[in-house]
Amino acid sequence: MQHTISLSQWVDKIGPQARQMVEAIEACVHCGFCLPVCPTYQVLGEEMDSPRGRIVLMKSAMEGGLSLQEAAPFIDRCLACQACVTACPSGVQYNELVSPFRAYALGQTRQDIMESVQHAFVNETLPYPGRFRSAAILGRAVKPFQSWMPEELASMLLLLPDRLPTSRPLPNFIPAKGTRRARVALLAGCVQQALAPEINWATLRVLASNGVEVIIPQEQGCCGAILMHTGELKRARQLARKNFKVFPPDVDAILTNAAGCGSGMKEYGFLFMGLKDESLAEQFAEKVQDVSVFLDNLGLLEPPPLPQPLKAAYHDACHLVYAQGVAEPPRRLLTAIPNLTLLEIDDGGLCCGSAGTYNLEQPEIAGELGRRKAQSILQLGSEAVVAGNIGCIIQIRLHLKTLGKMLPVFHTLELLDMAYSQIS
Ligand code: SF4
Ligand code: SF4
Repeated sequence: MQHTISLSQWVDKIGPQARQMVEAIEACVHCGFCLPVCPTYQVLGEEMDSPRGRIVLMKSAMEGGLSLQEAAPFIDRCLACQACVTACPSGVQYNELVSPFRAYALGQTRQDIMESVQHAFVNETLPYPGRFRSAAILGRAVKPFQSWMPEELASMLLLLPDRLPTSRPLPNFIPAKGTRRARVALLAGCVQQALAPEINWATLRVLASNGVEVIIPQEQGCCGAILMHTGELKRARQLARKNFKVFPPDVDAILTNAAGCGSGMKEYGFLFMGLKDESLAEQFAEKVQDVSVFLDNLGLLEPPPLPQPLKAAYHDACHLVYAQGVAEPPRRLLTAIPNLTLLEIDDGGLCCGSAGTYNLEQPEIAGELGRRKAQSILQLGSEAVVAGNIGCIIQIRLHLKTLGKMLPVFHTLELLDMAYSQIS
């Protein structure tokens, strides 16, 4: 796409990432192949809420023909799901445009008071499991009054489960069962530790059963993916730097079982572009793997059948399938369970509306996407759902419940753990 953006001006404002932003704009040929896969275009039907429309808006804002304030609402409605990146035949790296643009716009535009409160709340609680747990306990207490609250607060309460699981701190080390085949470190995840700690325990047991020794650095913190999503890039870098220090370098891989964390950590090279820790960030990112990819490459030891045959719909988390290109490994692992029938959701891989903190910030669009996803799942006649991301699990559970169907929603590793637990 032709443009009149002053690159040097934008490098001064944003840093070297401005080059990638301009490259993404230049690579777009306006073909529109990305429109049908874009969740916000599907829901809202407006060009300006499509990838192509947003590229034009960001280009205009960078050229100076449009104010950041005018462009911001359309950019804010983007889920950053990256479905458009996968669909684009011209290789437009839309994510490398939208992420720095959003971060820059955040510092230059006004938010209303409730948006600012929500932004601060999200950034000060979600990346800290202890704080988030305390906030969730408080949220449970005030949840009966949510109908009197502003939408920004009510949308956060809606996502809280009916019961908060008991906190179960992880050990710093889990030995491999039998012959050791690999040694890894595990990122524990923030929201997951508070809302679904059993996913980490299931992951540890499955890894151990497959001969994998696991280190869980106790000083680890948030990976920064949530802050990257909300445009707080400086603070995301601070969190990442802490993990560079505490994760051991002598492991075969750094594993995550949350797609959002995995995709965020794989973007560390871009996050640190032009900064002194760039190569350290790249080395760290190279070691990051989703646990499903790691087990698939290692070779899964044959799992026994589940206690009962099960038909489960597999949901592709956007941050796994689009952001990391991981579609087959989790399916291969799950289909290795003899009496599990995996069903495919026939909705073209549409986002469920979770997308990091999106279902807090844009509850109406997120709600519509959640409803569509739940309906597509129910049409399959499945008995359960399986996904590789805590955000999707919470969102799908909520919308199945809203439709009056309380299907269990599992993490991939939970179903594998259920199968292996039949041995002991
Ligand atoms: S598919 Fe790619 S090149 Fe075509 S409009 Fe979308 S971003 Fe631009
Ligand atoms: S990242 Fe997702 S929501 Fe945003 S423009 Fe691309 S497809 Fe649409």
